[in-house]
Amino acid sequence: MKITSVQSHVLAYDLPEELGYSQQYYARRTAHLVEVQTDEGITGWGECFGPGNIALANKGIVEKVIQPMILGDDPLDRDVIWHKVYNLMRDHGQKGMSMQALSGVDIALWDIAGKVAGLPIHKLIGGAHRTEVAAYGYAMMLKRESLADHLARFTDEAAAIKDAGFAATKMKVGLGPKEDVQLAEAVRKGIGDDFPFMVDANHCYTTSDAFYVGRAVEDLNPYWFEEPVAPEDLDGYRELRAGLKINISGGEAEFGRWGWRQILENRGLDIAQPEVCGLGGISEYLRVLALCHAHFTPVINHVWGSAVSVAANLHLLAAMPAMPGGLFPWQPMLEFDTTDNRFRDDLLTTPLDIQGQVKATGRVQVPTGPGLGVDPDRAFIERFEVTG
Ligand code: CA
Repeated sequence: MKITSVQSHVLAYDLPEELGYSQQYYARRTAHLVEVQTDEGITGWGECFGPGNIALANKGIVEKVIQPMILGDDPLDRDVIWHKVYNLMRDHGQKGMSMQALSGVDIALWDIAGKVAGLPIHKLIGGAHRTEVAAYGYAMMLKRESLADHLARFTDEAAAIKDAGFAATKMKVGLGPKEDVQLAEAVRKGIGDDFPFMVDANHCYTTSDAFYVGRAVEDLNPYWFEEPVAPEDLDGYRELRAGLKINISGGEAEFGRWGWRQILENRGLDIAQPEVCGLGGISEYLRVLALCHAHFTPVINHVWGSAVSVAANLHLLAAMPAMPGGLFPWQPMLEFDTTDNRFRDDLLTTPLDIQGQVKATGRVQVPTGPGLGVDPDRAFIERFEVTG
C-alpha cells in the first residue's frame, strides 16, 4: 500500500457574531482538514490545530513540505513516517506550526490503519476503558460590550450550559484581574453552588495577577484555572501550583514529548491538556499521555476544531487508562465548545450530534466504525473550502 497524495482542505465561514478570548476577537470560523489518499482507494482524514491564516500557512507545510517526504511510503508505517518527517523538519521547528502540520497527517494515517484493519482507532490503541464520556461545555466568550453586559450574559450562558446536560462548564477571562473575578462570580451565580466550572485565562496574566485572580476565586471553588500565565513561564506555573488551592491546568500550546517532559518535570500542572491536532498527532499524543501518567498527572484533552478532531479525541478518551485506577476512578471529560461551529455540527454525512447526545443522556458515545469512524461530506467541504 502506498500514499498517493496528501492534501489540506482549509474551511472557513463568517460567524454569526464576533467572539473573543483574552488574546483577540475573531469573526471567522476555520478548520484545517488533511486528506491522505492511497493506491488502494482507502482515504484517511486528519485535522491540524490552528485557525485563520495559521491554517493556510500549515496547508503549505502539509502539501509542500511533508507530502514530498512521504509520497510512495506505506501509510501503515505511521511511526516510521512520523520520525522521518520530524527528523527532517527538526532543524526548522521542534514546536509550533511544523508539529501542527504533522499532527493532521499522522491522524489521517491512523484513520487509514483503522480502515485497513476494520477496527476503530481506540481498538488499535488497545481497547476502550470507557465507551462513553461526559462532556463539559464552554462558552462565556469575551465580546466588545460593557462589563455589566458581560456579567449578565455570563450568568445566562452558564445556566444554559448546565440545562443542556453538560457535566461542567468553562468560562473565558481576560478583561482585567478585578473584572475577571466578577465574571467568575457571575458564572457561579448562573449555575448554583454544586455544578463544576473552570476558568480559562489563555495566558493573559502575569504571575502576580494570576495569584490575585486565583486567590479571589478560590471561594467560588472552580475545578481548574487554565493557562493562567504564558506557556513559556515555567517558574510561574510551578509557583502558582504550589501557592493556590485551585487545580492548575495547561499544555494546549505544548508540543511533542520533549516539550511535555519539560513541563511535567517542572511540576506546574495539576491537569494536563494535550492537543492531539497540534502536539504531533495520535502517535505523539500516546507518548505524551504515557509521560503524563508517569508523572501521575491526570489528562483532560484540549479539543478544538471540526468533527474530525472531536472524533479523534473521543477515541483517545476511550483508550485512556484510569490513573491510578479504582472502583470509582477519576474520569476524563470531552471538551466541547458550545459556540457556533458548522464544521463540527454539519461536516459529517452522519453527524456526531454531541449536543443531542448530551441533552438526552449527559454522555457522548465513542464512535465504533473503522478508523475515526466518521465520514466527512465532500460537497460540504467544497462549499466552504478557501485557498487564500
Ligand atoms: Ca484553553
